[in-house]
Amino acid sequence: MAERKVLSKYYPPDFDPNAITRKKPSGDRRAKPQPVRLMTPFSMKCAHCGEFIPKGRKFNASKEITDEHYMKVKIIRFHIHCSRCRGEITFKTDPKNKDYECERGAKRNFEVWRDPANERYHETEEQTLDRLEQEQLELEEKVEKDKMADLEEKMLDSKREMQIADALDEIRTRNARIERNEARGEDAALATVAQKKLDEAAAAEAAKQAWIEEGVEEARRNFNDIQRRHREEELDKALKQAEEEEKAAKAEQLKAWDKKSVLADLAARRAKRGEDRAKLLGLKKR
Ligand SMILES: [Zn+2]
Repeated sequence: MAERKVLSKYYPPDFDPNAITRKKPSGDRRAKPQPVRLMTPFSMKCAHCGEFIPKGRKFNASKEITDEHYMKVKIIRFHIHCSRCRGEITFKTDPKNKDYECERGAKRNFEVWRDPANERYHETEEQTLDRLEQEQLELEEKVEKDKMADLEEKMLDSKREMQIADALDEIRTRNARIERNEARGEDAALATVAQKKLDEAAAAEAAKQAWIEEGVEEARRNFNDIQRRHREEELDKALKQAEEEEKAAKAEQLKAWDKKSVLADLAARRAKRGEDRAKLLGLKKR
């Protein structure tokens, strides 16, 4: 182990690194399967004895590199032996589907996500996102609905409680009254009943009186209305008559004025014009 501590190694002066060639692997690796330890990549059923082999069971297998390729990726085959009947089972890698392929000696178990008819497991990324979003929305809606339902339930509960409390109060007061009356004796109870009846009669009488008064009041109001309307109509009539009379008087006055006034006006204008002309000419009256 002492040589591992040496930091620099001696290279002879005639050392040529290009002269070094790569070592060939000893033997033909392809021809000889290698023993490996593996876990089954899928669950299967042995075709020889019907034993179920679950996914992830450990096996001593032999690994064989085949001549097949997928996009320059070598396909590898594994051989295992059934743990019950020692029958040989082989499966190989499937790089195309990013999976393994069962080859001989066993049957791969049905897996729902590998079923091509199942749309759920063959959707695009966008479809998955859409579906998840939809599910989230539905969940939120449901939660919101539940909240509302809870609130309504609480409100109903409180209402019911209040009603119960009211009813209880009423029963208590009634019981107290009965007890009081019982303590006072039968006469007092009878008196209470009589008083109650009297009170009821008084209330009925008061209601009747109020109703009658209301009727009287309404009749009075109607009468006042009618009277007012009548007065207004009379006033209108008088106004119209006065207007007509005035019109007639004016027309007569105009007729009377017609001839007299026109003639007088003309004469006055002529006289004025004569005066003006005399002024312009510089004549003076003597
Ligand atoms: Zn078996």
